[in-house]
Amino acid sequence: MHLSLKSFFISVILFNVLLAMVILVNLNVLTTHSMKVKDLERNQHLMIQKADELRQSSDDLTRFVRTYAVTLDEVYKKHYFTILDMRNGKCDKPKDYDRIYWDLLEPLRSQTHPLVKKSALKDEMHSLPYTTKEIQYLIHSEALSNTLVHLEIEAFNAIKGVYKDKEGNYTVHKESNQALAIVLLHSKAYHKAKESIMFPINEFLTSIHERTEKEIDLANAEITARINTIYLMFILDICILLFSSVLISIKILKPIEKLTQLIYRYKNGDRGLHIGKYFKDEIGLMSQEFERMRTVLDEKYTLIEQIIITDELTQIYNRKFYNDKVLECMSLYHRYQTPFCIIMYDIDNFKNINDSYGHSIGDKVLIQMSALVQSLLRDSDYLFRIGGEEFIVLLPQIQLSEAKNVAEKIRKNVSTLEILEDEAITVSIGVAQMGAKDTEDSLYHRVDELLYVSKNHGKNRVSS
Ligand code: GH3
Ligand code: MG
Ligand code: MG
Repeated sequence: MHLSLKSFFISVILFNVLLAMVILVNLNVLTTHSMKVKDLERNQHLMIQKADELRQSSDDLTRFVRTYAVTLDEVYKKHYFTILDMRNGKCDKPKDYDRIYWDLLEPLRSQTHPLVKKSALKDEMHSLPYTTKEIQYLIHSEALSNTLVHLEIEAFNAIKGVYKDKEGNYTVHKESNQALAIVLLHSKAYHKAKESIMFPINEFLTSIHERTEKEIDLANAEITARINTIYLMFILDICILLFSSVLISIKILKPIEKLTQLIYRYKNGDRGLHIGKYFKDEIGLMSQEFERMRTVLDEKYTLIEQIIITDELTQIYNRKFYNDKVLECMSLYHRYQTPFCIIMYDIDNFKNINDSYGHSIGDKVLIQMSALVQSLLRDSDYLFRIGGEEFIVLLPQIQLSEAKNVAEKIRKNVSTLEILEDEAITVSIGVAQMGAKDTEDSLYHRVDELLYVSKNHGKNRVSS
């Protein structure tokens, strides 16, 4: 995967911002449509209420005129005309007119429902979002209700003793006829007129119901679509979150964990470590740089190790490394009885060589002689310079007799070196084998003494 971590994080952030914006827009549309549904329902209720007021006013008129015709109580007549005035906006109307029989609970109504301003039912209807057709239904119903009023007026006049003339004007005065009034108010014509009032109201209610339900259904469909979109965005966000977590784990956490382990192991001396595969991203780049740093450090470390154990002039091992190696051989000897021998040699009369040929020639002797002796040894043998012109050869897994042969070979070969003009270079040698009672020091002293035995017996010889 070649996606860089920076691009990955930017993509995740941008995607989340985008998701949040989509969710916000959808929430906004959702809120608008919820409010629209509320408005539709409220208006539907108010519009139905107006139709109901019309129906009730018609019922009230019937009720009061009939009660008056039977009881002749003037209160009902008064109520009748109040209702008419209310409907036409000439008189105050109780606030919740449609809820209770306003004439029956007068004290209670005036306490709990203060009267509102005068307004004609017709005008109130115009303030609501009716369609023209719906308004026409109501106006038609109200008009029909007014024709019913004519019948009712006729009944009132019959009680008063006033009757229509041929032109239909109330000019004829006779005796009051209560029975006629009751008949008029319960006649087939009366019921027919009443039925025709209710017919447009029914049409009106059906129209309101169908229209509003349609609009509410549309708004609800929009709300459902927005809710589904919001759910989808949330699911998408959770998927992105899961995907990001897996990527973060694979591309960041695991490589860092691996790198930390490698650094820890490297710090504790475990070298030659390899990171293996890494991604081509920022952490991959860091791993690559760590790998390069490790290689450079390894090289430097190896060099330092080499320098620490190497004699600068002759490039053979130094005394420090002799101390380490002899201890290693001694531990092998004690554990597995693996034998080993050491040869110590010292150049004879080296001071004279320096004095006669100069210090640089002395150095040359040291260098060439070391190279020569090194070439005579096995790969498993070690050659150390332990002092100015004193050397030790460590011969692992070898018995004294073989070591003596090696020493002799060294002595003979050194004497063949042709560095000085008129004299041969010779060495005095001591050879010793590691014994059961030997310590590092005792072994060293034994071979040193043997070297001086050679020196004391005329030099250029091997003592063991
Ligand atoms: P002997 O036969 O008894 O060993 O006599 P010698 O002259 O070799 O004895 P000595 O140990 O007294 O002399 C060692 C000399 O080696 C002294 C010193 O100047 C010389 N020497 C020590 N280190 C170096 C070096 O690195 N380069 C050179 N050119 N000379 C060195
Ligand atoms: Mg010497
Ligand atoms: Mg010496």
